[in-house]
Amino acid sequence: MGFCLFNNAAIAARQATAEHRLTRVLIVDWDVHHGNGTQDIFYNDAEIYFLSAHRFPFYPGSGTREETGTGQGLGTVFNLPVEYGTARHRYLAEFEQLLADCAKRCHPELVVISAGFDAHRLDPIGSLDLETEDFAQLTRLVLDVADEYCNGRCVSLLEGGYNVQALAESVEQHLTVIADRDSKL
Ligand SMILES: [Zn+2]
Repeated sequence: MGFCLFNNAAIAARQATAEHRLTRVLIVDWDVHHGNGTQDIFYNDAEIYFLSAHRFPFYPGSGTREETGTGQGLGTVFNLPVEYGTARHRYLAEFEQLLADCAKRCHPELVVISAGFDAHRLDPIGSLDLETEDFAQLTRLVLDVADEYCNGRCVSLLEGGYNVQALAESVEQHLTVIADRDSKL
């Protein structure tokens, strides 16, 4: 669907339900591209919830708010399409609101982050309006959910990011928030 041979986030989530017997896993995907592969894999799945915030309209073309899952998975998919030019504060506010709605529905036992950094303002491919520090804020919001519902259990997986400097700085912000939170557990 995208550019990956293996969908790490999907494998991690399925491992959690199949091997560790979890029944509610939430994948949060803030990569600038819609997580169409992950959505497709779990579209009919009642145990694995999926939230994607992504530029839209944009490649790969999916990820409207109307795509909410089907069958047993109906209501487990939450899409936040973001138009090019959307202000970063609006992006963050909408992300926070949708994440809260999704978490309330899911009550996750584990949160998996598809951590792409190509929504950065300087990214040559994604280029939404996000600044480096916004990835710290996204991280805080997701960890808050993990703290509230599952004792902070959260796994983060690196995905896109095509401006090497912006990628490095954004990942550093992301990891610093995780490490700080970790040291307080
Ligand atoms: Zn991407």
